[in-house]
Amino acid sequence: MNERFEGIVLFQRKHREHDALVKIFTKDYGTKMFFVRGLQKPNHHLTSQLIPLTVNHYIGNINEEGLSFLKEANTIEIHREIQTDYMKQAYSSYVTQLVDAAINDNTPDQALYEMLKKALELINSDVSYEAITISMEIKLLRYFGFDIHFDRCRICGTTVQPFDFSMKFQGVLCQKHFHEDPFRMHIAPKAMFIASRLDLASLHQINSIQVSQVTIQELRRLMDEIYKEFVGINLKSKSYLNNLDTLSASMKDVIRKRYKSD
Ligand SMILES: [Zn+2]
Repeated sequence: MNERFEGIVLFQRKHREHDALVKIFTKDYGTKMFFVRGLQKPNHHLTSQLIPLTVNHYIGNINEEGLSFLKEANTIEIHREIQTDYMKQAYSSYVTQLVDAAINDNTPDQALYEMLKKALELINSDVSYEAITISMEIKLLRYFGFDIHFDRCRICGTTVQPFDFSMKFQGVLCQKHFHEDPFRMHIAPKAMFIASRLDLASLHQINSIQVSQVTIQELRRLMDEIYKEFVGINLKSKSYLNNLDTLSASMKDVIRKRYKSD
């Protein structure tokens, strides 16, 4: 039977000579793998709607397990900036891979679907893609089973800052409890403050949070350590991002311009 549904394309992979497997996060059925016959041939009628990071309407056969199939599609959001800006594309790819890793296949999660849709929309617009990415990392920790509150001390529950982060306590420490962990991370108080705001704010409020480049670097250090130690996932797109981040700003500009002129 044909179903109508909305979805975000996560990735596509070549399959045999002409076909492809495309993973789509569908709003109603969760993440699903679709078999698309002949997608690698030129002028396939679904090419535009199977580009990673786009949002589309689909008609197709949904199977509870195994592969599903597509018949027709209509574009909702192509996200032109993401498709043409090297940095935006790298950050968006990382965020979608993280979401894919955070949930089980074939399990609907409309709240997370809407969150990813919003994140891509904001990265595509002028909102800081770095702030959006860090906010998604913070929000996704709960999906990986870590209930970390960045707005209160793990030990006494106070919301009075300054805070620091403790890997030992898997959470935030207030100044009174810094001594409980001599190996606390010594994250800049300003970055801890921003982390608490990014934790509580919904994505569309992030525009109003001003984050300096120094604070972004500090939050990167915090989230890298948390994901490495607690979540233990190592995404290819993440190491790629870190490589990009080590390039100087002028180098990034060169790449961006070159990529855009292609
Ligand atoms: Zn405390």
